[in-house]
Amino acid sequence: MQKDQLLTRLLTRRRALLSGAAAVGAAGTAGLFVLGGDAEPVRRTATPAAGSQARRPLKPSTYRLQPLTGYGPPQATPRRTLVRRTPLLRVSGRGRTMVLTFDDGPDPRYTPAILDTLAEYEVRAMFFVCGEMAAARPDLLARMAEEGHVVGNHTWSHPLLTRLTRGQIRSQMERTCDIVEEAYGERPQWFRAPYGAWNRNAFQLGAELGMEPLAWTVDTLDWTTPGTRTIVGRVENGAAPGVVVLSHDAGGDRSQSVHALRDYLPQLLDAGYHVTVPRRQYA
Ligand SMILES: [Zn+2]
Repeated sequence: MQKDQLLTRLLTRRRALLSGAAAVGAAGTAGLFVLGGDAEPVRRTATPAAGSQARRPLKPSTYRLQPLTGYGPPQATPRRTLVRRTPLLRVSGRGRTMVLTFDDGPDPRYTPAILDTLAEYEVRAMFFVCGEMAAARPDLLARMAEEGHVVGNHTWSHPLLTRLTRGQIRSQMERTCDIVEEAYGERPQWFRAPYGAWNRNAFQLGAELGMEPLAWTVDTLDWTTPGTRTIVGRVENGAAPGVVVLSHDAGGDRSQSVHALRDYLPQLLDAGYHVTVPRRQYA
């Protein structure tokens, strides 16, 4: 009984963290949305039309105007993800908001240290994980969930999607969605193409799986191991409201990325930036 209550409390807390605003109050993710242009609605034959029930007047009368909304309880908003033609590059929101993203992990050599720094400053970030990495260390995804971070889909094995068939892209994405759901507790709502190489299939399949394509505004190029100071400098120079920063917590020696975060994160916070995670506009 007590255990159940604790579990419920944990889940509630997690949900609050994930849903954003509740955990960090009014200054949280409320009003923070991704910005992007080009999109079209996903065509879904299964989506019910307005429905006969919604149109049926209770008492036909020439004196009554047709109400704007239907009778009865409001229908749940159908989950809808747009098929975009370009990925989202930045976020919008009140104030100086920025989003930190870490790709290719999780890697037990670097991800825990990054999580430690984020926890120290009570900041949430996004991790675009690869399925095969997540499958090796599901405990790190569980920790991300527990600490309120957002996990996105970065394919299973980090291939160049533009060289794959539609079926292969689907498999890369679906398998990763499955392992994320298993380890993190929820299916990912965001995806990012390896190497930033998107194509129409990637956008369409991502939308079918309920994910928004998120790219980045500032690339730290940390994978070239340019030195901790250079990485810090790139974040500082690129800092601006709405900026999404790209770094890596796997794929090679990422100790510079780990050290750089310890340097630039407090500086961003001192400069008045609210470092947080975006909220989905649809879904
Ligand atoms: Zn990557």
